[in-house]
Amino acid sequence: MTVQHQARKRFGQNFLVDQEIIRQIIAAIGPKPEDNLIEIGPGTAALTEHLIPQCPTMRVVELDRDLVAYLSEKFAAYPDFQIFSGDALKTDFTQFYEGRPMRLVGNLPYNISTPILFHLIKVRELIQDMHFMLQLEVVERLGAVPNTKAYGRLSVMVQYHCRVMPLIPVPPSAFRPAPKVQSAIVRLKPHKTKPCTAFDEDLLSQIVSFSFQQRRKTLRNCLQHYADHLGTLGDIIDLSKRPEQLSVAEFVKIANHIHNNMVGSK
Ligand code: SAM
Repeated sequence: MTVQHQARKRFGQNFLVDQEIIRQIIAAIGPKPEDNLIEIGPGTAALTEHLIPQCPTMRVVELDRDLVAYLSEKFAAYPDFQIFSGDALKTDFTQFYEGRPMRLVGNLPYNISTPILFHLIKVRELIQDMHFMLQLEVVERLGAVPNTKAYGRLSVMVQYHCRVMPLIPVPPSAFRPAPKVQSAIVRLKPHKTKPCTAFDEDLLSQIVSFSFQQRRKTLRNCLQHYADHLGTLGDIIDLSKRPEQLSVAEFVKIANHIHNNMVGSK
């Protein structure tokens, strides 16, 4: 069947049309029949039609109801293929786990890619890996190292939970309509054993948020909110540094120190 679909801007629809890029993405994913494969935003099936022959039990989450109807007709010959009609941001991904680590893929709508990443990170323990098309700028932030402009909350929180591997740069000409920005495919693999562990991950997340809200200020200023719980933090971290100078491990050290002081003062 052919698709007569007008791309909808509000759903972030930029459909992949470059067959060589599509081939490279499918090769990077390497789908297998036994995979618990879930695609977010299949759209007009540019990726799905290559994934499904290799993994007929794959499932998809799509917000655009017209595309849901199109996909269910197009893949009617695959009885195990399931379409979840709805918003990936409101989808409870734990329902897909069923004791099998999930492999998530998608050319994500760029307007909601960061919230989707944070949504999925909540269930990282159930995820084997993720392959996403994102704005190149977001991929650069995901993989950024300290002392660079791209380094921020997204870098620290995603790197705390996952190994970040930028894979394939993708030009605007690979899409219809062409977006205004460059894109890239990134692989995210949740750590089986974390390089460093925060005793309280919510506290880590809060501290990282506070810090990067004021990235030009010194740590001493950024951590004002925890002033009563800093104790001897200055002995292990130079508080005159700025947040963008700290590694993920140093943020974890700060969070654990503050956590211990909070617990100790109870
Ligand atoms: N996978 C297709 C491709 O590569 O050509 C389409 C990619 S397009 C960039 C993003 C897709 O995500 C569209 O199909 C859009 O309808 C869908 N989408 C947008 N917002 C969504 C959401 N909140 N939840 C699920 N799907 C969404």
